[in-house]
Amino acid sequence: MGAPRTLIVLGGTTEGRAAAAALAGRPGVRVVSSLAGAVRAPSLPDGEVRVGGFGGAEGLAAYLCAERVAGVLDATHPFAAGMTANAAAACAAAGVPLVVLRRPGWTAGPGDRWHRVGSVAAAAAALPALLPGDGRVLLTTGRGGLARFAGVDAAFWIRSVDPPDPPLPARHTLLLDRGPFDLDAERALLDGVRPHVLVTKDSGGTATAPKLTAARERGVPVVLVDRPPLPGGVPAVCTVDDAVARLLE
Ligand code: NAP
Repeated sequence: MGAPRTLIVLGGTTEGRAAAAALAGRPGVRVVSSLAGAVRAPSLPDGEVRVGGFGGAEGLAAYLCAERVAGVLDATHPFAAGMTANAAAACAAAGVPLVVLRRPGWTAGPGDRWHRVGSVAAAAAALPALLPGDGRVLLTTGRGGLARFAGVDAAFWIRSVDPPDPPLPARHTLLLDRGPFDLDAERALLDGVRPHVLVTKDSGGTATAPKLTAARERGVPVVLVDRPPLPGGVPAVCTVDDAVARLLE
């Protein structure tokens, strides 16, 4: 029997763990999940795991050659645009097939009061027009980019997995928590905070969607940051099953 085919899963997501679980243990396959190391105590996938950046697209291309990688699955978060761009460039340079797994974004339904914006900076800029004088904001955009909200005069409740770095809004309360979040818990959160606005990213998926349902039920407006576009020409699939099938082709 020849050497197993090495497949890399760029992860840090529920889908990355599901894909690694589906690939691990298959005959003739070695699966290595790659995590950024951004979270202090990450949920670990099945199979081998490596942690930390590669050193840009060039570093990743070198890694792919050194490990004789047969295929890469980019299952990173839809907002991890830097890693996705690096994966596209590195796989093209190294001649390694790349599949991008992107869960679909969220769609507004009846009763939703969503304001779509193109960036975290645009979300911060949109807030003053949506807030009363004593505004209260529930912010769930993650640890990155919070400096953009530092100049907004409002009380913020900031939810993130690990404590964010300063600068932060002058008036803020940290809610350190990790999804998935269920609907009852999100209802209780909104009833406790009573935000005038929820600010979040269009991450898609079910793990963090209940906050949108709770906001709809309470008539709370949502400022929703659109996801960055995928690099051109990169094949993308929506489900773990399709991603695994494409990778094994
Ligand atoms: P990013 O801005 O696109 O990436 C910044 C740098 O971090 C990359 O250039 C790369 O460093 C390193 N990196 C990112 N993902 C990596 C991975 N899976 N394996 C090895 N290195 C990785 O990414 P981010 O938005 O900071 O996200 C970091 C990680 O958190 C990702 O794995 C993502 O799936 C996960 N995550 C992100 C979000 C979010 O909202 N952005 C939410 C949930 C989970 P080098 O250039 O040195 O290779």
